Formats: sequence, C-alpha cells, structure tokens
Amino acid sequence: MKNQKISIQFLGATQTVTGSKHLLKTPELTVLIDCGLFQGIKSLRLKNREDLPINVKEIDIVIITHAHLDHCGYIPVLVKNGFKGQFLMTPPTRDLVEIILRDSAKIQEEDAKRANDEGFTKHEPAKPLYIEEDVEKAIKQFETRYDAAWIHLSENISFQFLKNGHILGSAFIDMKCYGKKIVFSGDIGRQNSDLLAPPTIIEDADYLIMESTYGDRLHSNHSPLDDLEHAIIATLEKGGNLVIPSFAVGRAQEIMYLINQLKEQKRIPPVPVYLDSPMGADATDIFLNHPNWHKLNSKEAYLVSRHVTIIRDFHDTFKVLKTERTKIIIAASGMLTGGRVLTYLKEYGPLHDNTFLLVGYQGEGTRGRALQEGLKEVKLYGKYVDIHAEIVSIESMSGHADQKEMLDWMKNFRKIPSKIFLVHGEPQAQDIFRVKIQDEIGAEVIIPEMNQEFELI
Ligand SMILES: [Zn+2]
Repeated sequence: MKNQKISIQFLGATQTVTGSKHLLKTPELTVLIDCGLFQGIKSLRLKNREDLPINVKEIDIVIITHAHLDHCGYIPVLVKNGFKGQFLMTPPTRDLVEIILRDSAKIQEEDAKRANDEGFTKHEPAKPLYIEEDVEKAIKQFETRYDAAWIHLSENISFQFLKNGHILGSAFIDMKCYGKKIVFSGDIGRQNSDLLAPPTIIEDADYLIMESTYGDRLHSNHSPLDDLEHAIIATLEKGGNLVIPSFAVGRAQEIMYLINQLKEQKRIPPVPVYLDSPMGADATDIFLNHPNWHKLNSKEAYLVSRHVTIIRDFHDTFKVLKTERTKIIIAASGMLTGGRVLTYLKEYGPLHDNTFLLVGYQGEGTRGRALQEGLKEVKLYGKYVDIHAEIVSIESMSGHADQKEMLDWMKNFRKIPSKIFLVHGEPQAQDIFRVKIQDEIGAEVIIPEMNQEFELI
C-alpha cells in the first residue's frame, strides 16, 4: 500500500556525519537517497547491524550521490534485507562504488578474521556485516544515468544529477516531485578545486536537504600546494616518513597530483611516493576513463600516478615499512578507522621523526579525530599503541565546502526554500550553521533527529 502523502524520513546522517539515508515517500514511489554506512564511534557502528525502521521491500528505487562509504557502504545490506530495485548513480560513481564496496567487504572479512584469530572480540564469533559475495549480488542492481537531462521515475517524479564538485562522479540530486523541487546536496565540494569543477548553481528549491560538515568553520585560504610542501619538507628535514591517511578514491588522486606538481616545480626533492591501496590503481584508472568529470587533460591525468609506486599486495606493505629511505605513503582509510594505514600507524606512530598528515574531515569517535585532538595513545587491533609521531592537520585540501562556500551556493536560489533540513554534520556545526542560514538566507531550518519523518507536500 503506497503512501497517501509526501514525506521525508531521515534514516541516518542525523546530527552526525555518517550513515546518509534519506527516504522520500510519495503516493507513486518510495525513493531512498543514499545508502550509507555509519562509521566512527561504536554506538554509531552498531546501528549498521540494526534493522531499518521501515520495510525495505517497500523501497522502489535508490539514488546514490557519490562513492564514499558513508553514502554507499550500506548497499549490500539493503540487498541482503530484500531490496530488489535499482541503484541509480552516475557512471564514475558506479565504477568507484564497485571497487569501494569490494574493498569494504574485504576489510570487514579481514577484521572479523583477525578479531577471531587473536581473540580480542567480545562477540563470539566476530561476523562481517557483508562479504564479497553480497557485494557482487548488489552490483547486478546498479544502473547508471547521466546525460545532463531529466530522468523520469514516474508520472510525477523526475530528477537530474548535477555535478557538485566533491569527488569524481559526485552529484546533487535535483528532483521534481508533484510540482515541487526537492534538492539533495550530497556532500558539496569546493569552489576552487584543482581537479573538479565547482558545484553547479541551482536556482530553485522548495525543500533543500543540505549537508553541514563544516557548518561552523571557514577553511584557511592557504594554497594546498604550500601546505603540502611545508609538511613534506618538515618531515624530510627530520629524516622521517610522511604518512597521509586518505580515501583511496578521489582524494588520493588529488594528493598524488599535488605531490607531482611540487616535484615538477622542484619545490621538493624526488622523494619516493607509495599509494598503499589495492584499489588505488583501479581508482586511478577510473580517473583516466572519465575525462569529462575532472579538469585535467589526458597528459596531466596520466602523470598523476606515474611517479607513484602502487602497492596492491598486503605483503608488500611490510617491504615498504622496511625501506629505510624517507618516503611519503598514502594509505586508506582517511579517518584511520580501518585499512592499511593502521599498519603504518602501528609501526611509524611510536617514532618521533615520522609525521601523520590529516587532510580530510576526521569524524567524531575516529582514531583520526583522537590524534587530531592530541591523544597520545590509540587502540589498534585490541592493543594500546603510544603515539610520538607528529600529527599535522591541513584544511586547505578539504573536499567539503566551508560555511561561506555553502552559504554562497545557497544564495543562488531565486526564492527562499520553504524548509532547509540540515544533515551530515555534528550538533555544534549544525546549530551554528542553522543560525547563520536563518540570518543570511531567511529560510526555516530543521535539524532532524534519527528516523524523524516530515510531511512535505
Ligand atoms: Zn563524501
């Protein structure tokens, strides 16, 4: 039985930055926008294992804004729980989501195995949320759309993907629904990215579902090249290693591009660079395969990774660790919640002459946030490790618009949206942003709570 009214229910990313899932219920279709995983503190991670407060089989279609796990990492669970419809996404997003989910399954299987082998799990036995087989099954339901035109889902519902400058393939969802416009921001990117075009201007929205990661902050106006040069030179002078925790997809390519620029401009010596990620090479190929989705010409795109040694095999990580020469290592995950960067944290974290450079947002409850806040001890694989390496954070490379960039983008609306829902932000950022939007845009701002539902039309 379909809904009689049009409403939106927030099933994640409410007063937190992960787990994006926004459910639009209408008389014709029930549409889920994003299908993300909760990450960070344990109480959040445990939500991935709870049933959604809805009947999954009632969802008709899922639209994905971009290929970060907090927006797509729950896809295999949704399929396991009975969703049979399509996942719509742009072509680069599809390519990236495939490798990201395969990697996510692998990490979960490895972590569960390690927890069971080493006996540090309190739950017996530790079980992965999903395995590679679940991912392969889900991928069969993927469909790509992008012709910069309206995609008709039903008589009264259509939408278009509009580039939003956050990562390769990322897009706003600009939706017409029963004569009203509903815009989902996804994660909104920067005005002056080296790799991506700025977010598309949208002039009308009746309802805006808006991210708010940096709702309380302005990024520095340093150039990312200067910040990166400074961090690299400082580490070289100490004779240590520079580890850059990073999403292997999108962000890693940007870092490789910038390091190459520094080398070409002779601002840093020809220091060896490693991308330790089984999916890093694939992600770099995907970059080359979608030239219309970034600013680099084919030669520049090719040069992004030519100076980098890509480590696929887990055993080679130990060879890299043993290399005595000073080096730069880029490894996932970006918030040190899992992945190969943890091996580097375990080995290089206790030594003074090494540096960990945090270039992206560090969510609440993650090891990245703990290090950023000066914690000198982290728990890794069930054991405490003392951290003496230098921890440096730079904001100039952020993939998220800051408060001013988001407000400037919203000021393009010709008429004030009747409601703006703030999602994907921590409480303090959201509250400051709410006041700022009310003062500068004049719209009604709502900060939804988990599973809260609002009637729209
Ligand atoms: Zn994102």
